[in-house]
Amino acid sequence: MSSWFLFSGLLFTLSSAKMTLQRFLAAYRSFFFPSPVKPPFLHICQVMIQMQQVMKRYDGVGIAAPQIGIPLRILALEVTPKRERELGAEVYAAREMSSLPLMIFINPKMEVLDFTKVVFPESCESLRGYSALVPRYKAVRLTGLDKRGEPLELESKGWIARIIQHEMDHLDGRLYIDLMDPKSFQNDAWQKINTHQGRVKIQFYEK
Ligand SMILES: [Zn+2]
Repeated sequence: MSSWFLFSGLLFTLSSAKMTLQRFLAAYRSFFFPSPVKPPFLHICQVMIQMQQVMKRYDGVGIAAPQIGIPLRILALEVTPKRERELGAEVYAAREMSSLPLMIFINPKMEVLDFTKVVFPESCESLRGYSALVPRYKAVRLTGLDKRGEPLELESKGWIARIIQHEMDHLDGRLYIDLMDPKSFQNDAWQKINTHQGRVKIQFYEK
């Protein structure tokens, strides 16, 4: 009888030690090797905040939710005054660029106000390192909801209108390469490559 108690006690100790070890290993694994988060989540997604962060990180002027793997019709736009300093007043004026404070549109709808096509170089963070000439409508109106669910509207022309068309295309699975003049498609590092006779290491992400 006493040997039976000893045996079951040993089994209990071993199994609880095993459980403790498993729990410890699981905690260790999740801390050092977090598994990819999959829905349904135990938290509410902060999509728009993350879109702002990613747009800033990539120094972009617009971002669409599908670009960060979120299949929702949300886009964010922001053009800060530093663009004029970067591009120079001449290019800035020629492309009809202007600043725009951060705007987030949920379920946006676009209406073309001026069907005149304007052609300028365009690039995309989803095709990093390349650019091409892309025709876009001159002026558009964007309507939708802001992040509080209030109606939001933006009438724009020139570069802001271009950004809007670019981001709206992302929501429909289109990229600028679907609209570009294919002969103008270029690797933006070509000058650097030629200057260094091909001895250039092109980084995907430099920051
Ligand atoms: Zn893009």
